[in-house]
Amino acid sequence: MAHAGQLLIKGGQVYDHDGDVHRPAVADILIARGEIVAVGTIDNVDAATTEVIDASGRLIIPGLINAHYHSHDTLCRGLFEELPLEMWLLYTLPLGANRSKEEVRARTLVGALESLRAGITTVQDMLGLVPLNEDYLDVVLSAYRDIGIRVVFSPMVADIPSVGMMRHRDDLPQEVQEMLGVRALAPAEQLDFLDAQYRKNRDTTTLHWAVAPFAPQRCTPKMLEGCAELAHRHDLCVYTHVYETRGQALIARDLFAKYGGSLISYLDSAGLVGPRLNIVHSVWISRPEMDRMAAADAGIVLNHLSNMKLKSGIAPVVDLRESGVRLGLGCDNCSGSDVQSMFQAMKLFCLFSAVSEPEPGPGLAHHALRHATLGNARTAGLGGKLGALRPGYKADMALIDLNDASYLPYNSAARQLVYTEAGRGVETVIVDGRPVIRDHRVTTIDEDALRREVADLMRHLIADYDAIVESRKRALPHMLKAHRKVWQADLDVPNRFIARTH
Ligand SMILES: [Zn+2]
Repeated sequence: MAHAGQLLIKGGQVYDHDGDVHRPAVADILIARGEIVAVGTIDNVDAATTEVIDASGRLIIPGLINAHYHSHDTLCRGLFEELPLEMWLLYTLPLGANRSKEEVRARTLVGALESLRAGITTVQDMLGLVPLNEDYLDVVLSAYRDIGIRVVFSPMVADIPSVGMMRHRDDLPQEVQEMLGVRALAPAEQLDFLDAQYRKNRDTTTLHWAVAPFAPQRCTPKMLEGCAELAHRHDLCVYTHVYETRGQALIARDLFAKYGGSLISYLDSAGLVGPRLNIVHSVWISRPEMDRMAAADAGIVLNHLSNMKLKSGIAPVVDLRESGVRLGLGCDNCSGSDVQSMFQAMKLFCLFSAVSEPEPGPGLAHHALRHATLGNARTAGLGGKLGALRPGYKADMALIDLNDASYLPYNSAARQLVYTEAGRGVETVIVDGRPVIRDHRVTTIDEDALRREVADLMRHLIADYDAIVESRKRALPHMLKAHRKVWQADLDVPNRFIARTH
């Protein structure tokens, strides 16, 4: 059982955000009932009821949190080359929808397994659940429960169809609009569903809820106001995609003139801009909008990996840091960056900050670790509970094997976690006091059985993928034309691409 006795993690280097981040001190961690009870030198424990894990030669870090993730397309990793986001949607929207329950369970487990193996103990799953019903939702929740990862769960809602992601959508032939999606459910149907699920599934230790309007341009004021009301009623945080692409900034200027051409103002008009809100991406945000977010204690979750692969651009990370807005980090879709690795997300955060400012500055590695733990916990309203190895915090952590080549030689915990660790060093992972990865092996599910099941499911998925790719060929010239028009249009935000001479 998960919480039958105590767990003592003995003699590891315990990473402390406020301590020596390069050479953390050796300490023991005592865990009971899913929480950290004590950190220090711990003797005199009851041997009969305490399991001991020897952590000598190990670095113990707070469990990493992925603040932006979608479990619905984990089986699509490696299917796509680099593509502009809007063209990628042509394929990925249908590939995530109306799948079998077996596939939904398998894809949830696959993403969770990869995450755990990379030291991620919490995922913020902004799930595109189609159909949006209880049977399917229960499949996802039971998969998370079975594998034992912590989840901040938010099925996405929207009452403007997916074609609303396109600027000048009416210029597209009807057939292409239909490929992108021209139907959406009514707001009340979706909001009532979420409300019922929050009430029904409240009391679990590793399940947390959030509200996720897909994106402001895909939600009417009624939908956004309903989301704000739900968040308030159930004391939940909110995540929504904002300014991911240049086209989305132009949509804001075109369609939201009433709100000063700003999606932030539009969100504000629905009562959403405040401490609960997190906007995801913000590649094309303006400086005044950043300052406004910072003043409201609203947060921004950066996803450099997918922003580059989907040709969206580079988030203005130096301005964002200067504005003081609170920051989180995510990995985004498996079809859009193909990996769930906060090590990669942290590294890119530091590298983009470095290359964006020629002057020498303060070291960022330990800041990246804070964003990936404490900052990401804050996005979900779990500040003070997740993200640090301190008494009273949830017992979510990863033991990193310092014998891995990444630590030969071992000069700095913070810098080598961020710049060197590829995930190989993650040896044991504990979620809510329960070892779910032990000596590199998952303890909660049968990994070989999952592998066989996925191989079987992929025959169907690849057949569907082939059919979708074939049918989308007709749409490509129209999508390319729309994409070029986006790039020809004037925009009052600088070009967020580098590495060109013209
Ligand atoms: Zn996303």
